[in-house]
Amino acid sequence: MYMGHFAIALGARRWLRSLPLAWLLFASIEPDLHDALGSWLPALGIGEATHSFPGILYAAAAVALLTALLFRRIGLALGASLLVLSHVIVDYLTSWLPLWHGGPHAGLHLYAIPWADFMLETTTIGVGLALYARSPDLRRPARAGLVAMGMVMVGLQAVWNFSMASG
Ligand SMILES: [Zn+2]
Repeated sequence: MYMGHFAIALGARRWLRSLPLAWLLFASIEPDLHDALGSWLPALGIGEATHSFPGILYAAAAVALLTALLFRRIGLALGASLLVLSHVIVDYLTSWLPLWHGGPHAGLHLYAIPWADFMLETTTIGVGLALYARSPDLRRPARAGLVAMGMVMVGLQAVWNFSMASG
């Protein structure tokens, strides 16, 4: 999944607004950040295990611990770990990923059907932004900006699906 991860983080803010938005975004794309870190510093990489069940459970536990230490609330730690878990769960819809390191691969691989992936991610963007918009602490100008943000997200998703899509 591509833009959908960010939409999930934005939607989760409705319940986790004591956490900085940057932290929610970090938790929702942690497995991809670990992939990027691994290609930059191979010693810290774990290859495709970032998107396997054991890998994601370790990552969710690590993010939960870090969140508990930094923000001192168990509920927030659980919420952040659920965001990490959400990453791989939705990636199994769009990709073809190992169940465990060296294990069999599974997934719907919707990236191979760009229109289907675009519909799924656009729906996720709509739901995520609708949830975000219902955050009680949001001021009116922030709500007004959401439509523009949604259009940018759908636009980036379209570029991803229809001119860059790989596998
Ligand atoms: Zn991913």
